Amino acid sequence: MVGTFSHEWDTPVFKGKTSFPTGLFINGQFVDGSDKTTIDVINPTNGSLITKVSEAMPKDVDIAVEAAQKTFDTTWGLNVSGLRRSELLNRLAVLMVKYKDELSAIEALDNGKTFNWAKNADVSIGIDVVKYYAGWADKIMGDTIETDERKLSYTRHEPIGVVAQILPWNFPLMLFCWKIGPALATGNTIVLKSSEFTPLTAIRMAEIIHEAGFPPGTVNIITGFGHITGEALSRHPNIEKIAFTGSTLVGRKIMEAAAQSNLKKVTLELGGKSPNIIFNDADLEKAVAWTSHGIFWNHGQACCAGSRIFVQSGIYDEFLKRFTAKAQSIKLGDPFASGIDQGPQVSQIQYDRIMDYIDSGRADGATVHTGGTRFGNEGYFINPTIFTDTKPDMKIVKEEIFGPVGVVIKFEDEADVLRQANDTMYGLAAAVFSQDINRALTTVHKLKAGTAWVNCVNQVHAQVPFGGYKQSGIGRELGKDGLASYINIKAVHVNLGHTM
Ligand code: NAD
Repeated sequence: MVGTFSHEWDTPVFKGKTSFPTGLFINGQFVDGSDKTTIDVINPTNGSLITKVSEAMPKDVDIAVEAAQKTFDTTWGLNVSGLRRSELLNRLAVLMVKYKDELSAIEALDNGKTFNWAKNADVSIGIDVVKYYAGWADKIMGDTIETDERKLSYTRHEPIGVVAQILPWNFPLMLFCWKIGPALATGNTIVLKSSEFTPLTAIRMAEIIHEAGFPPGTVNIITGFGHITGEALSRHPNIEKIAFTGSTLVGRKIMEAAAQSNLKKVTLELGGKSPNIIFNDADLEKAVAWTSHGIFWNHGQACCAGSRIFVQSGIYDEFLKRFTAKAQSIKLGDPFASGIDQGPQVSQIQYDRIMDYIDSGRADGATVHTGGTRFGNEGYFINPTIFTDTKPDMKIVKEEIFGPVGVVIKFEDEADVLRQANDTMYGLAAAVFSQDINRALTTVHKLKAGTAWVNCVNQVHAQVPFGGYKQSGIGRELGKDGLASYINIKAVHVNLGHTM
C-alpha cells in the first residue's frame, strides 16, 4: 500500500498541517517500490522516526525510465513547444510560492536546517531558479551559420531524452530546482533520485509538479540508496545523461559506471575545501561576519563552505579574537524555535564523521580554539568549532569535513596565500576580503576556483553559473551555461543547388 505521511506543526515560526504520500512518483502516480521495502526518515533534532518512504529497486528504475521515455516520445521532448514548457514552469513557481511555508517546514523537519533559512534561502532560491528557467524555455535556439552561397547550414538545440538526476541531503529542495529547471526548460524528461536521508520535500514537489500540469512521466521522483538505486541509474543503458551533486568519491563511481555502460554524458557538482582569504586591509568587522557565515551557514554542510580561513599576519590576533566571539554567539537549538541560528547535523553518520575529524585534528596536534563538542543531549548538534596551529598535511586542513569546523591559518603575503589556497584537489569556491580592489581582483584571478566572492561569501543566483575547477566537478549549473549540458546540438546542412 502506498503510505501517507502527515505532520502537525505548532511552533513559533510555523503553524500548520501537511499530509502527503510516501511512495515513488512514477508516470504521474504514487506507487510502492517493487520489493515493498521502505527507508526510515529520521528527525535529526531528536533522532525520532518521522516516517518511512518507499525504496526504489533497480526494477523500479527500469519502470521509471520507461515511463520517462514514453512521455519524451509522445507528449514532451520534440512534441511540446517552448512556450508551453515556459508556461508549466511558471505555474510550478507560482505553486511553490503558494506552498512556501509548508515546503520550508518539511525541509527544516527533515534536514534540521532552521525554518527561517529554509524559507529565505533554500525555497526562495529554488523558486527563483524555476522562474529563471521558465524564461529560457522558449529561447532555446541554434544558429544559422554562413558557409557558402549554395548551402544553408544551421544548428538545432534538441533535448537529450531521459536524464537522471541524483541529489545530496544538504540542500534537498534547492538543488532539486537547480536540477529540474534547466532539464525541463530544454525539453528532457527526468528520473530524479533524492537523498535517502532527506526525501520529503522531493515527494511533496512531485505532487506540486502534478498540480502544475506537467504530463505524467515528465518528472519521475524516486527515493533509494546510492549503491542500489543510484548505481542502477548510473548504469542504465537508456539514460543518456546523468547530473549528480554529492561527494567527489561517489562522483568518481558515477563516471566509472557511465563509462562502463553507455557512455552517458555526465555532469558533476562535487565537494570543496574552499579558501577564505582576509588581507590586513579588510574591513575587519564585516570580514568576521561573512567568514562566520561562510563556514557555519547550514551547519557547515555546504559544498562551498569557506573552511580554510587564511588571515594575514597583521590582523591575525584581532581577527581570531573577534571570530571566536562570533562563533560562540551562534545559537543552537530546535530549527523551529525563534532566534535559532544553527540546528543539528543531518544524521548520526554525519555527526560521527565530523566528530572523528575533530578527534583527528586534536590527535595531530592542532588546537581547538573553540567548540569541538556536542551541544545538548539529543539530536546531532555540534558546537561551532575553530582550529588553529594546523599544519598543511593534517586531515582537517586537506579533507572536506562538511560540518561546522573551520581552520584558521596565518599568512604573510599574497604569494604565500595563493600557494596555500591553491594547494588542494578541490576548486569549487573562494573568497577574498580586502578594501583594495586591485589586490582583491588580482588575487581572485589567480585562484583556481569556479566561483570567487569579493567581500562576501555563499552568494548564489539563478542567473550566475556555479560549478567546480579540478576535482570539484564537471560542467556548470545555473545561468545560461546550465542549459548546455541538457541539449544535443544537431548541425543541419542543406544543399541549395550545389552539384557534386
Ligand atoms: P554522497 O555522494 O554520499 O551522496 C549523494 C547522492 O549520491 C545520494 O543521493 C546518494 O544516495 C547517491 N549515491 C551514493 N552512492 C552512489 C553510487 N554508488 N552511485 C550513484 N549514486 C550514489 O553525498 P552527500 O553526503 O549526500 O552530500 C555531501 C556531498 O555533496 C559533499 O561532498 C558536498 O560537497 C557535495 N555537494 C556539492 C555541491 C555542489 O554544487 N558542488 C552541492 C551540495 C553538496
